[in-house]
Amino acid sequence: VARAPSDRLLNSTTFKVIELFQSFQGEGQRVGTPTIFLRLAGCNLQCPFCDTAYARDGSRKVEVVNIRDIVAELFGMGLSKHSPYDLCITGGEPLLQKKGVELLVKTLQSTGFPLLRVNIQTNGTIPVEPSSILSMTYIAVSPKPPKYELNVSMWSELKIVIPIDAYENVVVDLIKKMCYPYVKELMAGMRAVFLQPVSVKVSDNWMVSDIAYRKAVRISRLLTFPVRVLPQVHRLVGWQ
Ligand code: SF4
Repeated sequence: VARAPSDRLLNSTTFKVIELFQSFQGEGQRVGTPTIFLRLAGCNLQCPFCDTAYARDGSRKVEVVNIRDIVAELFGMGLSKHSPYDLCITGGEPLLQKKGVELLVKTLQSTGFPLLRVNIQTNGTIPVEPSSILSMTYIAVSPKPPKYELNVSMWSELKIVIPIDAYENVVVDLIKKMCYPYVKELMAGMRAVFLQPVSVKVSDNWMVSDIAYRKAVRISRLLTFPVRVLPQVHRLVGWQ
């Protein structure tokens, strides 16, 4: 077990937080896993299909909370090395607050909480240095169209958003470029790639876009390494 960061550091380092709640993982490899979500404020992108715009557009109150209080709240919610919960640090773009995220992960590690049960959801634009403790966590990168910028190499899974207006051949070429260095690891199941058709809101209900879903299926057939087509399950079943 690593040494705990000092109280002074935990008191003085703060997060801008949008929400902290328990639910189930709704995307990617760990779908269905009981998960505590820590959603941090702010994003460096403005995707037109964004389903968490409230994390970045000022429409929801941002709480400034120090790391010591976040850890206390997480433990109060039942997070422990024996709990069934993963911790998902998401946004917005959580790596805009990378120093705080590193400190939180170090603190959890010092309690014996398994690093691989920390699940960081990032858009992939902000690099994670291989020397960072974050590179030992489960990093889910969701590169965003149209550029699908990917500056993180230590990813465990890629969730490639397929928008309604995707140009299929262009997306296929970009996915090949992103994945070719990792084909052996993909074949061995050490990394995973998901094609995630966008969700759309119809009246008050979220649905998978049928157009995006069909495009994702066609794109999957043009790739020669394993990919899975998986919509946002939490949108379909109404998990928070
Ligand atoms: S990266 Fe994610 S949070 Fe940021 S604008 Fe795009 S969809 Fe929204």
